[in-house]
Amino acid sequence: MILPIVQYGHPVLRERCKPVEEVTEEIRTLAADMLETMYDANGVGLAAPQIGVALRLAVIDVAHDPECISFLKVNGEDAALESIMPLIFINPELELVGEKERDTEGCLSIRDMRAEVTRPNAVKATLPQFDGSVLVIETDGLLARALQHETDHLNGVLFIDRLSPATKLSIKRKLRRLAAEG
Ligand SMILES: [Zn+2]
Repeated sequence: MILPIVQYGHPVLRERCKPVEEVTEEIRTLAADMLETMYDANGVGLAAPQIGVALRLAVIDVAHDPECISFLKVNGEDAALESIMPLIFINPELELVGEKERDTEGCLSIRDMRAEVTRPNAVKATLPQFDGSVLVIETDGLLARALQHETDHLNGVLFIDRLSPATKLSIKRKLRRLAAEG
């Protein structure tokens, strides 16, 4: 089921989300709906607060572009990108590694806005799965960026919080209008 995506200005986007303690049928359905919603909106990631649920749950799929990363290790072994896509995870923990890199980001909760965001270009992500297993993913590129962007959502942080002061200033009026539209 395609769910409405919460837009900038809604307080749920600023909440520190609660850990998922138990994977219920409801959580599984929610994750499936989040994937459907993300694909429908042509996004590469979606976090639960974006559909109004303040839980530490997110989905990512960057399989459309195998060139978007330069390496991938899953639990210490080299792996193919499509082997872990789509990625569904709860209660993620991120270790940020690598050089800082600027790249363009957007967000399904902030309509019509893209901006350059500087982030570390690689991560080591510990991603608990629904079946109780844990994926430890080391990667860079778009996947590292998406993991940081979605984990930020679970902490009530949006990509616009990470812009340079000059960029922030330049989009201030547009953000105020978006917030007013809700
Ligand atoms: Zn987002």
